[in-house]
Amino acid sequence: MDGDLLVNRDGVRIVSQTEPDAVLSSLSLSPADNQMSLADIDTIKVIGKGNGGIVQLVQHKWTGQFFALKVIQMNIEESARKAIAKELKINQSAQCPHVVMCYQSFYDNGAVSIILEYMDGGSLADFLRKVRTIPEPYLAAISKQVLKGLLYLHHEKHVIHRDMKPSNLLINHRGEVKITDFGVSAIMLSTSGQANTFVGTYNYMSPERISGGKYDYKSDIWSLGLVLMECATGQFPYAPPEQDEGWVNVYELMEAIVEQPPPHLPSDQFSPEFGSFISACVQKDPKYRLSALELMAHPFMKLYDDLHIDLSSYFKNAGSPLATF
Ligand code: ATP
Ligand code: MG
Repeated sequence: MDGDLLVNRDGVRIVSQTEPDAVLSSLSLSPADNQMSLADIDTIKVIGKGNGGIVQLVQHKWTGQFFALKVIQMNIEESARKAIAKELKINQSAQCPHVVMCYQSFYDNGAVSIILEYMDGGSLADFLRKVRTIPEPYLAAISKQVLKGLLYLHHEKHVIHRDMKPSNLLINHRGEVKITDFGVSAIMLSTSGQANTFVGTYNYMSPERISGGKYDYKSDIWSLGLVLMECATGQFPYAPPEQDEGWVNVYELMEAIVEQPPPHLPSDQFSPEFGSFISACVQKDPKYRLSALELMAHPFMKLYDDLHIDLSSYFKNAGSPLATF
């Protein structure tokens, strides 16, 4: 062991210096009740690329189980190590049906590798590219699951996600929707070279965060509101001034988010309940924005209960080749 890094035959794992038991208590795999190492997995294929690195589909050699392996390249300074270890520990301790499981993380040769639960439907961003828009009753069911995930992160783990966006909501054939990459944005922010250089998207960032003020878990609720609007209408709610030209620069978009009144759903295409739910999310003043707990009690959450929405079939069958040219 060197500081908070533990060396084993396959690389280096981050553990907390003050809590050596973390090695033993770090989550193990089910059903095989042992630690997984990078040597125990085969790479199947690359399934995604983000700003920070790549995501691969991998298979555990002995159990045949599939996982997603996320590799983030970074140069870690001594001082950043502790912060990363802390974030990864929160990541690994999160256990909720609506938060993507993180089984293990390693630090080796300037890269952090994270073994995640594999979500075979990909992200909501991928899905949205196929279907363009998601009908309101399905969005109600999706919202409910995301809110349960946020409820867990906010009220039980006391963490802010900081990067809620369509590509960080993952889906699977069972009709489950799960939040991923919480803590990852904090890791990106805390690493050297990338400090103060935000590399993600500003699109879903709350006005109070853009303004550089204090922000809390309500910031995630703002982002959720924009994500749901985009799923409902097929468009990011802040349209550039002239169609097809895009925002001239990111500052123009940021100014619009801070200065303009919040967006709202067109009332002729969506139920008043959905409209009110969205407005409760995108209040510019976080004080008036509802919390995940309060949103769970919103009438929109019950509106389509009688329909017994089947997200599993929807995720599997929507966006057939016919619909996508
Ligand atoms: P950014 O880097 O800007 O945050 P991103 O969220 O798309 O963008 P990644 O988190 O690296 O970047 O993910 C890239 C893609 O990999 C996702 O859009 C998704 O399609 C896929 N992906 C990520 N994690 C998983 C997972 N656990 N299971 C299945 N697919 C995943
Ligand atoms: Mg992501």
